[in-house]
This record gives sequence, C-alpha cells and structure tokens, in this order.
Amino acid sequence: MTDRFTGSFTQQEPIPDEAITAAVAVLRHGRLHRYNLAPGETGEVAALEQDFAAFTGARYCLAVASGGYALACALRALQVEPGEVVLTNAFTLAPVPGAIASLGARPVFVETIEALTIDLAHLEQRIDETDARVLMLSHMRGHIGDMDELMALCDGAGVAVIEDCAHTMGADWAGVPSGRHGVIGCYSTQTYKHINSGEGGLLVTDDAGLAARAVLLSGSYMHFDRHRAAPPPEAFTGLAGEVPNVSGRMDNLRAAILRPQLARLPERVARWNALYRVIEDGLAGVPGLALIPRPPREGFVGSSFQFRLPGWPAPRIEAFLARCAARGVELKWFGADRPHGFTSRYDQWDWAAPEPLPQTDLVLAGLIDMRLPLTFSQADCALIARIIRAEALAG
Ligand SMILES: *Cc1c(COP(=O)(O)O)cnc(C)c1O
Repeated sequence: MTDRFTGSFTQQEPIPDEAITAAVAVLRHGRLHRYNLAPGETGEVAALEQDFAAFTGARYCLAVASGGYALACALRALQVEPGEVVLTNAFTLAPVPGAIASLGARPVFVETIEALTIDLAHLEQRIDETDARVLMLSHMRGHIGDMDELMALCDGAGVAVIEDCAHTMGADWAGVPSGRHGVIGCYSTQTYKHINSGEGGLLVTDDAGLAARAVLLSGSYMHFDRHRAAPPPEAFTGLAGEVPNVSGRMDNLRAAILRPQLARLPERVARWNALYRVIEDGLAGVPGLALIPRPPREGFVGSSFQFRLPGWPAPRIEAFLARCAARGVELKWFGADRPHGFTSRYDQWDWAAPEPLPQTDLVLAGLIDMRLPLTFSQADCALIARIIRAEALAG
C-alpha cells in the first residue's frame, strides 16, 4: 500500500473574517496611507504598532514595508557604514545578508552547528578577527540558540545584536520573547511567516534614539507625532536633518488585516506546535535520520520542520527526495548544487564573497526542510511522517 499526500505545502489559511471586515472599512474610507487620518483617528498602522509593542513587551515599535526593510532599517539606525563588516549566520535566507549589502556594508558569515543555530565559538573568533560591532542574528527556521550565552558574549565584546525573527514571531527563549534579547528585533509579515499581510515587517526596540532614527528612516516626514509606539518628541530633536528618508512605511490596509491575526497568534502557535510534534513523533527512531533536538528553554513555533540525513551521499538524498515527491511530500534540501525555489545557500551568494565554512557545509549537505502550513491537519502530518519514514527506510 502506498499512501499519497495531496495537500499543498504552500497553502496558508485564509485571512480571518474580522480582518476582512477591517480591511473593507479601510477601503471604504480610502485613507490607506498611515498618516492620512481623520481628526482624532489613530489609524490601523499606529494601532498595530501599539498592539505589537504590547505583544513583545517592547517600548517602541515601527511597522514597515517588509522584513528585509526592517533589517536594513535596523542597520541604518545603528549607523553602520559602507564597507563595515556585519556578522551574520551562514545558515539564513538571502534577504538577511542582502539587507547588509543594501548599505554597502560587508556580510561576514559565521558557522552553523548541528542544532542549526550559530556556532558561538566561531562567532567569538569572528568578532576577534573582524572587530565587528554588529551581529545580525538570524533565528533561521525558528531555531533559537542559547541566548544567555550569546548575549553574554556579544555584550562582553560590545557587539550590538539585531535579531532576525522572521521565523520566531511568538517564540521565546527562557520566557523572553524572541526579538527582545538584542537591541533591535525585526519580524516579517510576509505570507509564509506567522501572520500574513502579503508583504510587511515590524521592528521593536527599547532604545529611544534608535527608535526615533528608525521612524525617520521609514519616511515619517514631520508626522512622527502620529505614532503611538514611538519615543517622545525630544528623542527626535536634531535628527530630522541628519537622518535620510529611506521610504518604507506600512499602510493601513495591511495593518488592518494583521491586527486580528496578531490577536490569534497564541492559538495559532499552539496548533503549529501540535502539528510539529506529530511529525517529530512519526520520525523518531528512523535509522540514519537525525531529528533536531529542541532545548527545554526554547519556546519555539513549529511552522516548519527540519531533519538531517547525516553522511548520506547526494545521489541517495536525491533519490529519497524524488520518492517522497512522487508521494506528494515536497521536501526542500539545503545541500542542492543549485538554488531552487526560495532555498539557496550562503556559498551561492557570490555577491557577498563568502569564505568556505566546512562545518556549515557538512550540516547543510544533509539538511531537509518542510513547511507546516496551518491548513494541514494532525492526520495530514501523521501521513507525511509515515511517507518520509517509509522512504527513508527504503533507501
Ligand atoms: C522571510 C525572511 C526574511 C525577510 O522577510 P521579507 O518580509 O520577505 O522581506 C528575513 N529573514 C528570514 C530568515 C526570512 O525567512
């Protein structure tokens, strides 16, 4: 008997009805620009910023055009200079080093450990070698390294940490929300992330000076007083002439559909993690297949699933992937020679002149990845795990 899975790994849930109602209200009044407000009106963008600041416990929040914009805005707020080295994970998505390159700064990659997080020993070495003052830390695929150790290392070396939380909105380390360990946290609200506005981003910080710069960078003109989660006017004194307008605001339509989704996020996280545990249980004990251990202090969001096939030669992995695909289970492989779909690897980003990283190469050579959209049921996930298990045992 060969079961086949027929669901779509890229199909997210529909936008909730209350979000559609809120969007229609914005469309009906027509004030889509965040600063286009009726007398006394807060506006959906400013309200979203208030909501997200409360959700993360941050003092300040800015909503922007994309997750990648939030990352570049964070670097600009920290006044990273052209040519400056910015450290980042070798295992991340292309827009992360891309944000660094957008300032003319130079991404320098740090090794990855089998837990899929940054190698702290190599990070320490890179800090010594480069004198970098900024680490853009990517919690890639939702894996959060030991943030206590990482922050002790970076604080001790005077390195500012920007957290890329594209896969960790709603996650935490030891009870502290992801994005709240470093000086700035950046999030994406793109369709494949945890709340969906097609495109969009959020930035949080407790630092009034950085928040004021970020607000001005995003294109606030003289309207920073229309924000509800920005620092007081004094924080902006003298900055208006110094900080360029690198336009990248969010609009009221997107914010309107995000606010009801944010309110539902804890419930969605519980559903994601239930799906994740079904896959994890279904793949436990398969010889030659290594699961990624999740540390007890990591409060993760299981919106995607990774496992390793350590030591498998490439042709064996390719045959396994083909057998799974033939049964409707489309897996991504970080060891592929060529970039495919959204999946590419640090050594394919020639524009960043990456140095070889043997340990990361070894991890990525056997790394398999899949999304777990909330349109999947637990029964779907049990079937997916049965198929992967059978095909891993078959070859
Ligand atoms: C999606 C993503 C980003 C960028 O977010 P966009 O909103 O698509 O610009 C950054 N980092 C990681 C790890 C991502 O997956």
